[in-house]
Amino acid sequence: MNSHNRSELHVLCSSGQLLLQPLWDRLRAWDALIQSPFFPVFFSITTYVGFCLPFVVLDVLCPWVPTLRRYKIHPDFSPSARQLLPCLGQTLYQHVVFVFPMTLLHWAVSPALLPAEAPELFQLVSHVVLCLLLFDTEFFVWHLLHHKVPWLYRTFHKMHHQNSSPFALATQYMSVGELFSLGFFDMMNVLLLQCHPLTALTFHVVNIWLSVEDHSGYDFPWSTHRLVPFRWFGGVAHHDLHHSQFNCNFAPYFTHWDKILGTLRSAHTK
Ligand SMILES: [Zn+2]
Ligand SMILES: [Zn+2]
Repeated sequence: MNSHNRSELHVLCSSGQLLLQPLWDRLRAWDALIQSPFFPVFFSITTYVGFCLPFVVLDVLCPWVPTLRRYKIHPDFSPSARQLLPCLGQTLYQHVVFVFPMTLLHWAVSPALLPAEAPELFQLVSHVVLCLLLFDTEFFVWHLLHHKVPWLYRTFHKMHHQNSSPFALATQYMSVGELFSLGFFDMMNVLLLQCHPLTALTFHVVNIWLSVEDHSGYDFPWSTHRLVPFRWFGGVAHHDLHHSQFNCNFAPYFTHWDKILGTLRSAHTK
């Protein structure tokens, strides 16, 4: 597309689209990487480990920096290398052995298409919020079922509960069955809402961040549950309680489903 046509296209775009078009144009310049069969696994691992890394550093610093302990839900707990390394190893192993063949199959059947136009900003934000609400609902049902049916708990969910005081790298410490269920919900919502690839990418990043924050063990003044009004977001305070008490707070992010079903337990937040 020449520069004249491009400027005409921009005139036709709405202001919300114009905001995202430069970002989308930059990303599309990396189309060989984005459309490669290795991209989903590479993107998923680097985003996840990148989000976990600052918390790992905080955990290492915690014994020597008393101020940090004020923000820890379990002030006297810091994960040891013997806890951290198996979690990281499990994530890498599962992504290489199980996730990569699946994404390769998906790539062969339907290669990623990158449209020329960026999505509208409002559409991107509303689709990300809708994807999060759908994911929260699907995971709530899955999670409740896996705590109520002993066979399901033993077979698919018990592994994730090995850490009663979670830490960032314990987020994806789970069975292959649980990892695929979460991956399936994540992908299904994007397809269901026919999200733009940039929206899908944003949702994956937000979803990975929120899941890592849920397990981080740190309750900061800027934690998501303190930023969302009306106590609508449970976040780290609620999910940490789920890991120690098992029978409450089954939704990963929002509080409405647990409130409706009477399984909401509020954490004592500082
Ligand atoms: Zn659980
Ligand atoms: Zn968890």
